[in-house]
Amino acid sequence: MGVDFFPCDFCGESICDCGPYITCNDKCYRRWCDKECAKNDGYLVDDEDNASCGYCRNELFTDWKILDYILEKFNLDKEEIVKEMRNES
Ligand SMILES: [Zn+2]
Ligand SMILES: [Zn+2]
Repeated sequence: MGVDFFPCDFCGESICDCGPYITCNDKCYRRWCDKECAKNDGYLVDDEDNASCGYCRNELFTDWKILDYILEKFNLDKEEIVKEMRNES
């Protein structure tokens, strides 16, 4: 097996799974290339055992979560929106 690369959840930079990187708790799985990126996602490092990021604490939301929320709130159909976008281009 070779080494794996995955993107930093904040800046998108490639992280090597053998290299140093920061992870959130095991319920979250967010990963960052360095402390700066972790901090930008609201990750708290003061308390290592109870560390969480803004996404865990429901302070920050991914675009997907926001999209789902909007679709539900306004009773919208994603398929319909995709169709509309296709017609517009
Ligand atoms: Zn990063
Ligand atoms: Zn988290």
